[in-house]
Amino acid sequence: MTKSKYFPRKIYIEKASLGFPMTKRILKNASHVPVEIVEDVENLIDNIKISRDFIGEGKKCLLITQNRGKFVKPCPCTPHYIGCNYFIINLELQCPLDCTYCILQHYLENPMITVYVNTEDLWKQLDDFLYKNKNRTLRIGTGELGDSMALDHITKHSKDLISFFKKRKNAIFELKTKTVNIENILEIEPAENIVVAWSLNSYKVAQNEEKGAPPVRERIEAARLLSNRGFRVAFHFDPIIRYQGWVYGYAEVVDELLEKVKPSAIAWISLGSLRFPPDLKTIIKKRFPNTKIIYDEFILGKDGKLRYFKPLRLQLYKEIIDVIRRKRGEKIPIYFCMESREIWRKTLRKTPRGKEEVEKYISLLRV
Ligand code: SF4
Repeated sequence: MTKSKYFPRKIYIEKASLGFPMTKRILKNASHVPVEIVEDVENLIDNIKISRDFIGEGKKCLLITQNRGKFVKPCPCTPHYIGCNYFIINLELQCPLDCTYCILQHYLENPMITVYVNTEDLWKQLDDFLYKNKNRTLRIGTGELGDSMALDHITKHSKDLISFFKKRKNAIFELKTKTVNIENILEIEPAENIVVAWSLNSYKVAQNEEKGAPPVRERIEAARLLSNRGFRVAFHFDPIIRYQGWVYGYAEVVDELLEKVKPSAIAWISLGSLRFPPDLKTIIKKRFPNTKIIYDEFILGKDGKLRYFKPLRLQLYKEIIDVIRRKRGEKIPIYFCMESREIWRKTLRKTPRGKEEVEKYISLLRV
């Protein structure tokens, strides 16, 4: 498997965050990286933003600071489409990988890879939140504002988070990654409410549009290793992208996935087609001038995002669902990320009335 791991060119530490155990851990695990202590984080961010490709520049530095707000938030999802009642943990922001379509290029004000080190506040906020919701099963994860595992050799967050959630049975905790950075997880015992998920795509899309990410075959191999250790795994085909030969391209990956990973170990598979706010198109054009993914025909959805016409989306989903169902995957729960009721009905023959029903559908099936 690809062994190259991300290290920043420089670590910036906010002065007030120097004394935290997590700061010490990061400095120990990245001891060869130059460090600068900063008084004013806003000023540092403003300076990075002067750079022509400030998104790319931000990926080269790691900022250590504190989250002075809420660590746990509902997933922003998108208005007018069905969500899944997911909650996100803001422990890290930004990502060292560089996918063409990454929404973070448009979404986050701070381009630097950022780690919040006040983890005692995180555990307290999580306990309060889980207690307030003790009568439901929550799905919660870290992979929305970055990649859950891309920094794991530096932070070892996976070990802390899994140890915490193992004892909180009203939560299903998900780590979501494109990396194969699983060494820390291989050292710990699995639990039913822990899910390690991979974002997958066709080999062609991954190769052309997911700069810095290991090949899809290696991601599947990492999933196989963890599922053989007893971990539940999950997969997100998102964003599904049309190109000449996409039917075969996606079928090939589903085939390999369901050959290598036992369907009974798969907690869920989600599907989502390419969608992006119009402003992201401008950023993609500038940063990835050779990409073709933004030049298909799109409509402006009710949420203000560009997406494929509904008949095209239906075709994409039907083909992929059909392969999953044919290849030993008939019992795997499948759901959509940000899709309409009509798409649910016409592909999965389900019409969830809202995100609560989707939450139940996904979380009740296996835990
Ligand atoms: S792995 Fe996810 S967060 Fe990282 S660049 Fe790609 S899309 Fe963005």
